[in-house]
Amino acid sequence: GSPLLEIEDLRVYYDTVSGISKAIDSVTLNVKRGEILGIAGESGCGKSTLTTALLRLTQRPGYIAGGSIRFYPSGQKPINLLELSGEQLRTIRWKHLSYLPQGSMNSLNPVLRIADQFADVMIEHSAISKREALQKVPQLLQQVGLDARVARMFPHELSGGMKQRVTIAMAIALDSDLVIADEPTTALDVHNQRIIIQMLGELRDRLGMTIILVTHDMAVHAELADRVAVMYAGSFVEVGDVRQIFKAPRHPYTQGLINSIPSVGGPRVRLAGIKGNTPSPRNWPSGCRFHTRCPQVMPRCSQEVPPLIALSNPDTAGLSEAQIEQQRQILVACHLYPQPEMEGVHGN
Ligand code: SF4
Ligand code: MG
Repeated sequence: GSPLLEIEDLRVYYDTVSGISKAIDSVTLNVKRGEILGIAGESGCGKSTLTTALLRLTQRPGYIAGGSIRFYPSGQKPINLLELSGEQLRTIRWKHLSYLPQGSMNSLNPVLRIADQFADVMIEHSAISKREALQKVPQLLQQVGLDARVARMFPHELSGGMKQRVTIAMAIALDSDLVIADEPTTALDVHNQRIIIQMLGELRDRLGMTIILVTHDMAVHAELADRVAVMYAGSFVEVGDVRQIFKAPRHPYTQGLINSIPSVGGPRVRLAGIKGNTPSPRNWPSGCRFHTRCPQVMPRCSQEVPPLIALSNPDTAGLSEAQIEQQRQILVACHLYPQPEMEGVHGN
């Protein structure tokens, strides 16, 4: 598909008393129109820092230290989100770019009826009258499987799952090109998780929405994402087609994440997928930042930073053309895999 978002060399730093902390370090990633791109990784790896930067919501002492974020809003010229003024950003948000922050279902205003919360958002971000906005609410609620009567209710009258559906309906109210959802299923029970997963998939299929889905939950990526980008210590370690990555994870960190998924219906315990803790951005390990936890660590790993590059010598035996193409589009940052200049040596 055509690009909707091109993130290039994005850096988000924090000034701390002990120096600069590089929370997001040189991230490059494309998002295609109509896809669900999953951003995976344990908590503390930088997922939320990255998404808030995409929305220009980074707060002090954090700041965007460099890079560009090219966005292709429908019917408009491409723009670099990092160069927009506050006023320009206001017109882009919700109308072209909407955001479901983590825990957004708990941020509904307790003293406003649901319909009025919709109207507030729609009036603020588009040239619609309050009456027109209110008229659209029942249909928006139906799109997320809620009864039109919910419009007249207050948040406390709704279950957690219903509130999450309301926030999703608000995010799609202005038909934005891109929805960024941070942990939309976290903190819901299994039943409501299922509903939200199914609904996001339907919205993409029916409305052609593009979704950036941020979650630590690999099982959710497996079900919903088209491509997945695995983040570790502030940058991506593996990016590619979700089925390919689940079938044959290349990066040792991705392998650990996938091995940690509890079996469906089994106990929700943390399996022994990855030893140790995520490092702090104040003190990222040298070389490959995963080297302190990697079961396959080699001497060079603590010295050389592995670049994120396309697999150069995929095992293509028995694969169709389309599958080979998907493999070519897998990017991995790990010294276990051959660098591009070695391509000729290994043939194929
Ligand atoms: Fe492990 Fe080395 Fe690969 Fe890093 S570069 S993931 S330490 S093998
Ligand atoms: Mg987070």
